Amino acid sequence: MNLRNPDILRLAKLNDAPEIFYSIQGEGRSIGRPSTFVRTSLCNLHCIWCDTDYTWNWKGTPFPHHFDALPGYEKYDKNALIATCSIEEVAKMVHQYPCRNIILTGGEPLMQQPALAHLMRRLRASDPNYRFETETNGTLLPEVEFDALIDQYNVSPKLENSGNSRRLREKKKVYEFFASSPKAFFKFVVSDPADLAEVLELLERYSVAADKVWLMPEGSTREQLEARRLWLTDICKTYGFYFSDRLHVQIWGSKKGV
Ligand code: SF4
Repeated sequence: MNLRNPDILRLAKLNDAPEIFYSIQGEGRSIGRPSTFVRTSLCNLHCIWCDTDYTWNWKGTPFPHHFDALPGYEKYDKNALIATCSIEEVAKMVHQYPCRNIILTGGEPLMQQPALAHLMRRLRASDPNYRFETETNGTLLPEVEFDALIDQYNVSPKLENSGNSRRLREKKKVYEFFASSPKAFFKFVVSDPADLAEVLELLERYSVAADKVWLMPEGSTREQLEARRLWLTDICKTYGFYFSDRLHVQIWGSKKGV
């Protein structure tokens, strides 16, 4: 699979269609902002609590997941869940919505930078008011053209609680890039108060200021979020971090594509 082809995007497939939908941003710096989401397929990490596991947890791969404990949960058929789309097709789907704030999400969008750069150029040519945010796990370096087109990076560095090895999740050069980019904001998924030491260590190592940091409870149900909200807001107050809810979980639960 050639992920460097600028004319082809591999998107997640949901209900047999590429996952492009109009909703509100549920997390981080732009929380609450009406946005159109373009969800790419494929990820270079495999977080044990990932709630978009249908972008990477393929049959035949060894990665464990919390959902393994759910009755009937099975890994996914890679061929059935990747939509191969031309940039024109994606632009047409984005154009059906009135929104100009576009969120490139995944999976890991930065695995497909040439095609996403092409998409951003194509949309801006149709209307210069398009604004682009990308979610990223902070392990892949933005390329020059991609970086020039992006308005905001929502960087979500993964902690030990994700189940990814440190070698996979912490890339020094990439962290240094995002730490020095005025367009980058950091969002950490926190499962336990003990995760804080790791967050503080990372922020210190890469000189990230507290006002660029959002802490968000790990959880894909309202109950899980509620159980972590109180102690996490206390941590945010102590260190001057922003607290991020997961609005889409609060509103729609685990329903996808809304
Ligand atoms: S980096 Fe994001 S998409 Fe990839 S496995 Fe982790 S949570 Fe899921």
